[in-house]
Formats: sequence, C-alpha cells, structure tokens
Amino acid sequence: MKLDVSRALKLPGESFPLDVEQAIAPQMISGEEVRFDPARLKGTYMALEGGNIAVDLELTTTAHARCANCLAPAQSEVREPIEELIHLGGDPDDSEIFTYTGQEIDLERLAESFAVLGLPMRFLCREGCSEAPAYDDADVDVCLCQKELPGQRPFAALKQLLSEEDGEER
Ligand SMILES: [Zn+2]
Repeated sequence: MKLDVSRALKLPGESFPLDVEQAIAPQMISGEEVRFDPARLKGTYMALEGGNIAVDLELTTTAHARCANCLAPAQSEVREPIEELIHLGGDPDDSEIFTYTGQEIDLERLAESFAVLGLPMRFLCREGCSEAPAYDDADVDVCLCQKELPGQRPFAALKQLLSEEDGEER
C-alpha cells in the first residue's frame, strides 16, 4: 500500500501514528520459497526538514516455508523493527536506501525487505528436529527423529523415562 505523507510534510518534526496491513509477495530465499501472512506495520513516521521521512515501525508477520531438516511445513513468527529514513527523490535503483517521490511512500518494498531480514537462519517444523541426522536416503519424506529406530519400540524410551522419574527399577 501507499502511505500518504502530505500531512506530515506540512508539519515537519511532528510524529504521526501508523497501523496498517501490507501484503508481502512470496520470496525465494536460497532456492526455497518463503510465503508470508499479511504483515502488520505499526509505529510512527515523521517528516524531517527537506522532505525525508523517518519511520519507526515494528513489522509482525508469520513466515511459512519447509523444515530445513525433514521438509515438513514449518512456520516462523517474524517481529522486526524498522527504523529507516525514506529519502525524498533519491535514486530508486539504489538498493542501499529507501526512496520516495511526490507525497506517497510505497510500503511494499519496505515491508518485504524487513520481513526477509527477520527470517530465521533455518525453518524447523518443531523444536528438536535439528538434532536428527539430515536425511535417510531411502525415505526423504520422514525425518529420522520421527522414525522408529531398529530394535526400539516408539514408547519404550518414554516409558523408561517415566519409571525412572518414579524411582522404580524395572
Ligand atoms: Zn522437521
């Protein structure tokens, strides 16, 4: 969406509240598609003398991708601060800075950039999945940590753990 900053430009130095939803297009990160729920951008913005706009926002969204370990669907909460200067009339091809022209700031690129910044190093379907070996060649769909190991029944270890907690010898 576009943020109309015309009021702020008339009142430099005055802080204006912002609380909007911004859709974020799916992004390819290291060859993997990451999808996002609509992001919430909440905070304030302020025009400075000369027309640059200072934004002080927090972006929150949920990112969806595949577990880095077992490829099951995984998601991650993203919460990322956005403290940026949006430059009036800067070079729009300069990827180092955010720019705008006229009286409207495009929040899409801003939200996209910071949503990607807030992604985890690896998506995991659940805590602990990272502790398992990467893949069993014979069956790539199933994380090894969820598979029954030879000679072990699934609940045997749990049962033993419980009885140890009870202080009983088996
Ligand atoms: Zn997993």
